[in-house]
Order: sequence, then structure tokens, then C-alpha cells
Amino acid sequence: MSQQIKKVVIAGGGTSGWCMAMALSQQFGELLDITLIESNEIGTVGVGEATFPTICTFHRMHGIDEKEFLSATAGSIKLGISFENWTRKNDRYIHSFGFIGKSHWLGEFHNYWMAAKSLGYEGQLEDFCFELQAAKHHKFAVTEKPKINYAYHFDASLYARFLRKLSEAKGVKRIEGKISNVKQNLDNGFIESVMMESGENVEGDFFIDCTGFRGLLIEQTLKAGYEDWGHWLRNDSAVALQTDFSGDIPPYTRAIAHGSGWQWKIPLQHRQGTGYVYSSSYITDEDARNTLLDNLDGDIRVELRLLKFNTGRRKKTWVKNCAAIGLAGGFIEPLESTSIHLIQMGVTRLLQLFPFDGCTEAHINHYNEQSRIDYEKIRDFIILHYKATERDDTPYWRDCRDMEIPDSLAHRMELFREAGVVYQDPNEIFPVASWLQVMMGQRIEPKRYNHFPHTMMGKDVMFAELDKLKTNIAEFVETMPSHANFLKTYSPMSWS
Ligand SMILES: Cc1cc2nc3c(=O)[nH]c(=O)nc-3n(C[C@H](O)[C@H](O)[C@H](O)COP(=O)(O)OP(=O)(O)OC[C@H]3O[C@@H](n4cnc5c(N)ncnc54)[C@H](O)[C@@H]3O)c2cc1C
Repeated sequence: MSQQIKKVVIAGGGTSGWCMAMALSQQFGELLDITLIESNEIGTVGVGEATFPTICTFHRMHGIDEKEFLSATAGSIKLGISFENWTRKNDRYIHSFGFIGKSHWLGEFHNYWMAAKSLGYEGQLEDFCFELQAAKHHKFAVTEKPKINYAYHFDASLYARFLRKLSEAKGVKRIEGKISNVKQNLDNGFIESVMMESGENVEGDFFIDCTGFRGLLIEQTLKAGYEDWGHWLRNDSAVALQTDFSGDIPPYTRAIAHGSGWQWKIPLQHRQGTGYVYSSSYITDEDARNTLLDNLDGDIRVELRLLKFNTGRRKKTWVKNCAAIGLAGGFIEPLESTSIHLIQMGVTRLLQLFPFDGCTEAHINHYNEQSRIDYEKIRDFIILHYKATERDDTPYWRDCRDMEIPDSLAHRMELFREAGVVYQDPNEIFPVASWLQVMMGQRIEPKRYNHFPHTMMGKDVMFAELDKLKTNIAEFVETMPSHANFLKTYSPMSWS
């Protein structure tokens, strides 16, 4: 067990460093002395602009005002992700953050829909999802009845700046410069201080590694180890840039599959972020760059960047008196925008377990186990998008389609295909509606369904109920403002 924790040092000032600093100072600022170190010379990864709905809760927990946040980060609303060309070329489906229809304890709503279809009902499952319909029509409003589920897109560097302001107002000290050395206690290996290139020695009782892929403390110093998932998720590179953007702002991210990976398009109030995520085993960096340049919507504003990564997770994200948050703790490619969610989960868990009276094995083991579960659940969901493809036009897609997958995912896919059953595991962020939308979107057709709807109502009542539900959603969406108009009045960007 270590000593009492008073002085906390956060190494790194990207999204993870400043999320950590903001939350720690908001909640425990009076109890702790918090220092954040960041290097302008090294900079941040500079991408990471689409999020998952848990960010709204995270912001509420820390008293962040939504309008201020959106204005400060040129942010926009995200109701889901439009997947294009994934299962077949020219296919498109939206994975929205909404729920689908109304479920029964005997089974989810798609059983009603399948029962009705078997009786000749026409219409799509997506007609019964409010968020999905709002996304399709580029509409948005903050509504309570029906409650709308959403996340955000934002400018990553403006977000860090926004969080920095909140953190410094709560007493976080910031040191600019490069850490050149890490000093450990000779007896127990705990980190005692980090040495700056300037010669300054920054001491701490607890260290949080937010240094990005390099994992300066957790890996280079404490040798946590890395579990590589590259055999399942083969993308290891990305080229990224920013373009001008004019016209309607869609309230969703676009994920467009190409020959050896996929391209994101993230619309903000003033520009679009875009990038091609690909596997360097199938395409050269130069060809990937050309693919991206051939698929832009506007003029380039910010130069192209090449990023390299290993998909996987640190075997331990807390070792001795150091926890890793963000890319220092692991990385799963951005297909479902889960990295910032993982950062904020890690931050929340660390606050809940904060070792004021010293780090114990119990703290460390619990944190590491929960973190393992978070990463593995997300991993399976991402693999689903690649495995459930019918594309065979390139070696990349053929290999994705033919790969061995984790048993946990194989079981889910088989259960849905054979029995039409979908479920959400405890501790899993993706709800049933997410699994359903992606499995159906990727053309996994259930062969069977639960017949309970047939025992509850006859054909006419069933059709009338479904029509009513569908019409209510369509009529409500009709009354909503466009996403662009919503942003103009609710949270026009205030930065410049
Ligand atoms: C291609 C790509 C697309 C992505 N898209 C998304 C997305 O849409 N949604 C999402 O949720 N996530 C996304 N991510 C992940 C997301 O970018 C990160 O989770 C997020 O930016 C947090 O990064 P970080 O703060 O952990 O690391 P970084 O941004 O790399 O920050 C590291 C910090 O450590 C500092 N540092 C490093 N070494 C030293 C040193 N020696 N001395 C002092 N300081 C040091 C740096 O200066 C910097 O401040 C994406 C990632 C990639 C690669």
C-alpha cells in the first residue's frame, strides 16, 4: 500500500488529460493538489471529434452547460452513424442512438415487426425509431416527450481548451514542457516524480498517464504490457484532414467503407473533419491518401496527417500509483466513436475508486478488471461490422468476412440469425437497439422470431398499432427544426 494521496500529476493534456483534470478538480479540487503537464512540441493526436451519448451524462455530472460547451467547441449534434457501403456497395443504414418501437418483457419490438411482416405488413424497422427518423431528415430539438438520445461532434482542440479553462478555474496548475525522465522508488517501484527537460522535478503521490499512444508512464516505465487485437481489427493507420463545409449539417457521423478500410466524415458548425482508416497490409499510405483526396466534400483547410496505431488494450491500466486514461490505456478504432466514452468511463471509475488513503491491490485489481470488460465488449461490437459483410470485391473485405471471431461474438450472431434474439450484457454500453440496428443493417436476417405478438392481437389491431406508432414518430419529426437552425439559435459557435 502507498502513502496518502495529496499531490496528483496528470501527464498529458489531450482530451484525456483535460477530461481527467476537469473532473478531478470539479469533484476533489479542495482535497487535492493537481498539476497537468503537456508539451506543445509533442502536441496531441488532434483527431477524436465524434462521441457517444454517455458524454451528455458525463457533462451533467460535472456541471457543464450544454450551450456553452457547444458554442465553445463549434459543436454539432450526433444522433447516430450512417454506415455506407458496408455489407454491399451502395448499401446504407443508420445506427442511431434511439430505441426501436415498444418492447414487451417477452421480447423486443422487432418480434412485433416480424410477426406483422409475416402477415403482409410493409414498412421498415427504422420507421419505428424516433432518433433515426430525425437523423434522416436532418432535424433536431432537445425534447423530453419523447426523450431524445444524442451525442456530439466537436473540435477536439477547442474541447481541450474548454476543459482547460474549467480546470484552471478550479485550481489545476499547468506546466508546459517535455517530460524527459521518470523517477521510481527503488524499493517498491512506485513513481515519485517526473523530470522535465527544463530540469524541473515534478513530484506526486499519484500519477495519471494521459500521454497518448506512447504510454510514457504506464508502459515505458511500468511495463504494463499490451494485448494486440490486430488479427481481428486489422486497421492500423489513418490519414486525416479538415475541409470546408457548406450546406446542411447532418446530425450524424458518416462512416463510408472503401476498398481497404473506411472514411469518417464529421460535420461541425464551421468545417468537416474527415479521414481514411485503413490497414497498411492492404494499401500503401500513398494510395490511402489518394483515396481520401478523391472523396472530399470541400476545400482542404488543414494539412493531411498520417497516424499509426495498434488496436488493443493495456493488460493493466492501473499499475502501482499510476493509472492510464485515453490512448495510453488502449485504442479501438473510431468506427463507433468509443474512445472518448472509454476516457470518461475511466475518469468516472477512477473518481469512484480514488485512493485518498493509499493505493491497494483491491483498488488496482477492480479497476483493471472493469477496464478489461469495457474494452472487450466494445471490441466485439466493432468486429461485427467487419465480419457481417457480403463484400468480396477486395482482399481486405474477403479477409474480414472469412476471419475467425471471438466466441462471445460468434454466439451473439448465431443467436440472432437462428432465433432472432438480441441482448445487452451487464456493463455493456451498446443497448439491444444498437445490436439490432447493426445486425439488421449488416444484413443478418433472423430466421425465426418469438410468436408472442400473435397471442396478443389479431392482424388488424397489430397493423393499426404499428401504423399509429410510425405516424406519431413521423408527425413529431415534422414539427422539429432543422439541425442547422437548432444550432444557430441554441448554441452558435463563439470561438474565433
Ligand atoms: C484516426 C483516429 C480517429 C479518432 N476518432 C475518434 C472519434 O471520432 N471519437 C473518439 O471518441 N475518439 C476518436 N479517436 C481517439 C481520440 O483521438 C483519443 O481518444 C483522444 O484524442 C484522447 O487522446 P489522448 O488525450 O489520450 O492522447 P493525445 O491527444 O495524444 O495527448 C497526449 C498528450 O500527452 C502529451 N505528452 C506526450 N508525451 C509527453 C512528454 N514526454 N512530456 C510532456 N507531455 C507529453 C502531449 O503533449 C499531449 O498533450 C480517434 C483516434 C484516431 C487515431
